[in-house]
Amino acid sequence: MDLSTQDITYCKGVGTKRADILRKELGVHTALDMLQQYPYKYIDRSRFVYIHEIDNEDTFVQIKGVITEYHTVGVGKSQRLVATFSDGQHTIEIVWFRQIQYLKLQLNKPYLLFGKPSAFNHQYNFVHPELTPWEKVKPEMTSGLEPYYNTTEKMKQAGLNSRGMRAIILNLKDELRQGLPETLGVDLVKAYKLMGRSEAIYTVHFPKDTLSMRQARMRLKFEELFFIQLQLLRQMKKREQNIGYKMPVVGRLFHHFYNDYLPFELTGAQKRVVKEIQNDLRSGGQMNRLLQGDVGSGKTLVALLCALLAADNGFQTCIMAPTEILAQQHYQTVSQMLKEMDVRVALLTGSTTRRQRDLLHQGLRAGQIQILIGTHALLEDEVQFANLGLCIIDEQHRFGVAQRSRLWYKNEYAPHILVMTATPIPRTLAMTVYGDLKVSVIDELPPGRKPVQTLHYTLYRKGDVYRFMEQQIVKGHQVYVVFPLIKESEKLDLQDLQNGFEEICQAFPRYRVSMIHGQMKSLEKDEQMQRFQSGETQILVATTVIEVGVNVPNASVMVIMNAERFGLSQLHQLRGRVGRGAEQSYCVLLTRVELTKDTRQRMDIMVATNDGFRIAEADLQLRGPGDLEGTQQSGLPFDLKIASLATDGKLLELAREAAQTILNDDPQLDKERNRLYKRQLDLLRVTVANWGDIS
Ligand code: ADP
Ligand code: MG
Repeated sequence: MDLSTQDITYCKGVGTKRADILRKELGVHTALDMLQQYPYKYIDRSRFVYIHEIDNEDTFVQIKGVITEYHTVGVGKSQRLVATFSDGQHTIEIVWFRQIQYLKLQLNKPYLLFGKPSAFNHQYNFVHPELTPWEKVKPEMTSGLEPYYNTTEKMKQAGLNSRGMRAIILNLKDELRQGLPETLGVDLVKAYKLMGRSEAIYTVHFPKDTLSMRQARMRLKFEELFFIQLQLLRQMKKREQNIGYKMPVVGRLFHHFYNDYLPFELTGAQKRVVKEIQNDLRSGGQMNRLLQGDVGSGKTLVALLCALLAADNGFQTCIMAPTEILAQQHYQTVSQMLKEMDVRVALLTGSTTRRQRDLLHQGLRAGQIQILIGTHALLEDEVQFANLGLCIIDEQHRFGVAQRSRLWYKNEYAPHILVMTATPIPRTLAMTVYGDLKVSVIDELPPGRKPVQTLHYTLYRKGDVYRFMEQQIVKGHQVYVVFPLIKESEKLDLQDLQNGFEEICQAFPRYRVSMIHGQMKSLEKDEQMQRFQSGETQILVATTVIEVGVNVPNASVMVIMNAERFGLSQLHQLRGRVGRGAEQSYCVLLTRVELTKDTRQRMDIMVATNDGFRIAEADLQLRGPGDLEGTQQSGLPFDLKIASLATDGKLLELAREAAQTILNDDPQLDKERNRLYKRQLDLLRVTVANWGDIS
């Protein structure tokens, strides 16, 4: 029987109803799909503990003992049954809240207790543990590792809890023993000392011991990561064949700017990155590059230099920013730097008037405008270029895939694409989410920057923080105060902001305060921003609309209210708004007193480091890749069944190296000996984001 074609409906213990649920909830269609639902954890059932050994709420334990006494407490709905369980030396309480009437407890007869302790009133107890009379304990219940499977509410209702899943998989044990075809080549299995596929899938469900279970998981993780990398790298190789506009000249404009108007010496990292991009632009292939650089690392200047390179070769560039404020800021920066030069720069946003637009369209079509800066307004069909050659997308994660694809149709071939992001992405994630993009990193900040000092206070110290703000303002600096606005449309949050604004106004009667949030009209936003930028107001009360890219070097303090409501990468972005001048800057995180373990860790990391990559790593560890900011909009382009980007970085590198080796010799897997891989890719239909199609 071929497990890969065997319908799950006809597997023992399933049937139509459950099969339906398995298909809907887990995408399980066949017996093999079922066997590829891997356990997410194991509990060692060969170990017994004594009551006095219990010291945490995180691990399941089993104890042999007797019930010495039980009684009910309360009446009606709040009635519960409380029993005392003794292991001969110590006792612990067991509590049942539900279905008490069905419990038949026997005093002083041995039981096997299995469950997770919970802490209550500084003591441990058990709530609804599994209790099995000792004579009914089967050997497999207390031997070896018990696998646990992920389930959903809907599944549980149909009896498909972890136990239920296990029962179905147990029924497939014999068929599994007969073997499954191998998916990795013999040389690979040998080179990486991997367990065979059949044995691995068998062992992962029915482990003999921890060692073999780990080896089995390792093999399955490797396989999973390997095929994703194989697919991504194959796409990258294919894309290298794409025809791209050739930009071989480093010409008049570039040199003129570089020699006469460059406002400061480039950092080593900026120089390196410009070279990398330059190489792509003259290669004849189409560039698809991700530029990562922490906030303040000077990506704008790199973008400008690339635009000048394109212009030198007769091509136009568009620079796309996620918000109107940012687009304007880029426009100001770029026009300012180019003001003595013969380059025409234009701005296009939602608030550009019809008349301006018409002029702009003409200029673009005639090729008179070399650099167009804007928001997503520049994706509109009516925006036509004479010869678009380069698209630079700032803060890419704010743009959807569909939006990006529209850039493709603005010229005969796809333009070169440079995606810039200030959200540092952990290496493992970059290798998977952007695995088919080339990556450049600006890993060096411009000289003379003082690292921002980060302080964490509870709301009780707000008075102290206000005094500190005042000291800084007296010195001539400016201050941001940010309030969390989770969804810009929530009225309640807006009220919070309004209250916060009033409070600040009252606390600082001698200073001027501006306010900015996402619901304002863009004209009003500009006005408020302008007042702060020009120094007319000393304090800017804002929501996270200022998170991305805003640049006011004179602002030296960032106060974040209810910092516990922000994610790590958002906090890091916000902090990046200060520390842009030569003065010492500060970031103050104000939180409630009572914090969850998670929040405390987040605050500690922020205080401990300014390094965006370390923060991104920590974020990945704390929250897992699915929730990581920067990817949450797009999500991971595939489901990982067993590997984890948070913990399997090493294995991922190995898998990528293995895939690379194979493709170096056979880029499209056309050779006979790689047929196995090609077939498997088709079979898996590994759907990874294809940046060539969507950029
Ligand atoms: P980001 O990478 O966050 O977009 P920006 O491009 O806004 O950073 O640059 C941050 C600040 O650093 C700007 O004020 C910019 O003028 C300045 N800057 C950029 N490159 C350099 C450099 N090589 N030396 C000194 N200052 C620089
Ligand atoms: Mg920027």
